[in-house]
Amino acid sequence: MTSAQVAADAQTIRRMACFDTLTGLPNRLLFREQLGLVLRMARRNGSAGAVLLADIDDFRRIKNSLGHAQGDAFIRTIAERLGACLRDSDVLAGGSALDGAPSVARVSGTEFAIILSGLRAPHDAQVAAQRLREAAARPMTLGGVEVFATLSVGVALFPGEGDDADALIECADLALGQAKDNGKDRIQFYSVAIDKIAANQLTLQSRLRRAVEQRQFFPVYQPRIDSVTGRLCGAEALVRWRHPQLGVLAPAAFLEACEQSRLIVPIGTFMLEAACRQNRQWQDQGLPPLPISVNISAAQVSEPGFVNTVARVLESTGMPARWLELEITESVLLNDAAGAMRTFSAIKRLGVRVALDDFGTGFSSLAYLRDFPIDVLKIDRSFIIGLPADHRSASITCAIIDLSRRLDLEVVAEGVETEAQSQFLSANGCRLMQGFKFCRPVEPEALEAYWRSVER
Ligand code: C2E
Ligand code: CA
Ligand code: CA
Repeated sequence: MTSAQVAADAQTIRRMACFDTLTGLPNRLLFREQLGLVLRMARRNGSAGAVLLADIDDFRRIKNSLGHAQGDAFIRTIAERLGACLRDSDVLAGGSALDGAPSVARVSGTEFAIILSGLRAPHDAQVAAQRLREAAARPMTLGGVEVFATLSVGVALFPGEGDDADALIECADLALGQAKDNGKDRIQFYSVAIDKIAANQLTLQSRLRRAVEQRQFFPVYQPRIDSVTGRLCGAEALVRWRHPQLGVLAPAAFLEACEQSRLIVPIGTFMLEAACRQNRQWQDQGLPPLPISVNISAAQVSEPGFVNTVARVLESTGMPARWLELEITESVLLNDAAGAMRTFSAIKRLGVRVALDDFGTGFSSLAYLRDFPIDVLKIDRSFIIGLPADHRSASITCAIIDLSRRLDLEVVAEGVETEAQSQFLSANGCRLMQGFKFCRPVEPEALEAYWRSVER
């Protein structure tokens, strides 16, 4: 192959990766990249601009009347008109996207994204959006059928609405959603008010993404107590979010969104690292070695590099593997039990312990208990709450304790709040407990204080 051919191939590949085949416009990937550059430039020059997301209303109806092939032609025509209208537009005299690059992108089937840079005033974005709508609304005849499009347009301005490309796109997307909700065929500017109306997973997820970048997550620790000696026999790391406006939040407020967006993977790795580093530090301070437990979500386990991540964290923090315990729930086994089995066999070979959390609440199969390499069973709080009076809770609790003894597993009761619960549990053979009765989840210094007080 000649070097010219190689260059030509590289160009073809880039074209395929970055441009939409139907319209030849940049795709979402390239758009994000371009927006990133424009934002950096705007920050440097102190200039203003906007991101517009324009979506063709009721495209399905249009396509039904035109047929599939003409539907493509329709999209292509709209794309050309939007491009032309931006090129001619005087409000864009300050320069559109990047030098020479087209300023319209096709970011999904019916959605176009536009970067306006060098805007003099927010009103210019309104004017530009209006021109786009007028261009789309001019009737066209395809295969003998006359059609036209109405557009809903969401607008987000910069600087102001999010400091990175993703945040800005999300704001424009929220505004677009609002335009649709308000009856389509209109322009909607993003405002904090929409954010409040929408108050949906999408904004939460963009906040979470930023929170990961800005390191707003941190661990608190809840001790695990041997109720017979009163001494510490472990600590569980639990994630908290220091929200810039709302203060410290517990996982109930954000964990589900983390799972949905898979942000739980980086957050989980962060928690693993933080807990191992902390435990190592406690050992270095001369405190007695303590198993530290870290909650692991199913999404983390399904990542191909999960075992390596654990090994790397142990290595980099210098924490001996036997002092780490991973808490998993039965959900880890749901999708791919065989894969999870292999993963945790490898985890065990590292020397790390495994606890089955929330036992009895999920899709517990006793076969898992037989086959899965675990060391610890944690009795869910929902069984502990009713102790000792509720007969059924008491029976299940005793059965789990008995089961774990026979399987040679450690058993831990979680959510122990009262003396009566604690007495019932130890009388029935469960001496390891966690719960507010002993200590709430606390920051490391407070845990140390508690620890020293029970060691004395
Ligand atoms: P979990 O693993 O079952 O953790 C125990 C939860 O019960 C904790 O809630 C703890 O604060 C709470 N708790 C402990 N003792 C008592 C008690 O005596 N009474 C009552 N009412 N509650 C008690 P938290 O910290 O809000 O965490 C909730 C759940 O979020 C955890 O349940 C766990 O499933 C998940 N989670 C927490 N941190 C992480 C993390 O780093 N990664 C993952 N994947 N999940 C986490
Ligand atoms: Ca747990
Ligand atoms: Ca639990």
